[in-house]
Amino acid sequence: MDVSQLSSMISSLSDIHSRLQLLRNAPPLLLKSSMSFSAPSIRSDFEQLKELGDTIRSDSVQEALRTATQSEKADRSDLNRNGRREIRKRRRPPSPESPQPYIPYDKRSASLFPTASDDPPPLRADGLPDYLRDFNRTHSSKLHIWTRIRGSTQLSNPAVVRFTIRDVLVCYITMEYAAADPVLVTESVTAFGPREKKSPHSQSDFLVYQTLSQQIARMLQSHPRVAFQSLVNLMCTYEGIFIDRCTSCERVLSAEGHVPPVVRVWMDAGKEGEKGRWEPRHASCPQT
Ligand SMILES: [Zn+2]
Repeated sequence: MDVSQLSSMISSLSDIHSRLQLLRNAPPLLLKSSMSFSAPSIRSDFEQLKELGDTIRSDSVQEALRTATQSEKADRSDLNRNGRREIRKRRRPPSPESPQPYIPYDKRSASLFPTASDDPPPLRADGLPDYLRDFNRTHSSKLHIWTRIRGSTQLSNPAVVRFTIRDVLVCYITMEYAAADPVLVTESVTAFGPREKKSPHSQSDFLVYQTLSQQIARMLQSHPRVAFQSLVNLMCTYEGIFIDRCTSCERVLSAEGHVPPVVRVWMDAGKEGEKGRWEPRHASCPQT
């Protein structure tokens, strides 16, 4: 095999990689309940997905993938995280953020959390027990480490924390951390009704909790490395989910679907002495 063959294989594989990254932005759009499935952008996403599938199945790409697998088996010494980071750096302008597991290509989808300057220092796995103790002492909602085995105190990885607002909801927050850098990175949040007895990775039977899980997924996607404390601050605002009015239409239940306001929009402090706050909105109401 000559160099030109190899370089054409590499370019077709990196093309597939970037098309795949672009398509990863499609699911959060689907989560917007106000958006119809027939919207042109969704239709074109599905077309792109189909095209990408056809491309991947084509003989030339399959051959390139086989070659890549063989080459990796033969010598993987140059394949490390830094190598991947180098490639990413060349393709995108350098960003001040630390490397993230998933980088959205669309820079317009800015973080839905308060701006980074307000972020508390990210919580690490070893600081979790103290943080939970302190939180439970000062808040009416409660946080507990959840383990598969009853009575186990060992923090697993991924770690699961149960967040409870009495008579309102239970959320399972799943987080990962690396041994070398044990900062807790939230992977998913699943919301359930207060009396549902379900495992952290299943789904609620109720629309309101399903919608809430989807909304938090959307927020996490906008800020994948949000500090655990900021996430918990957000979660606390759901205490009034069944009584708070949407600040856009001023109703508790949405006209469409009769769902309470699961969206939270961060409002920066306006005047001096004022504090920023989370405002409740319906997913179907304007969010700006
Ligand atoms: Zn509304």
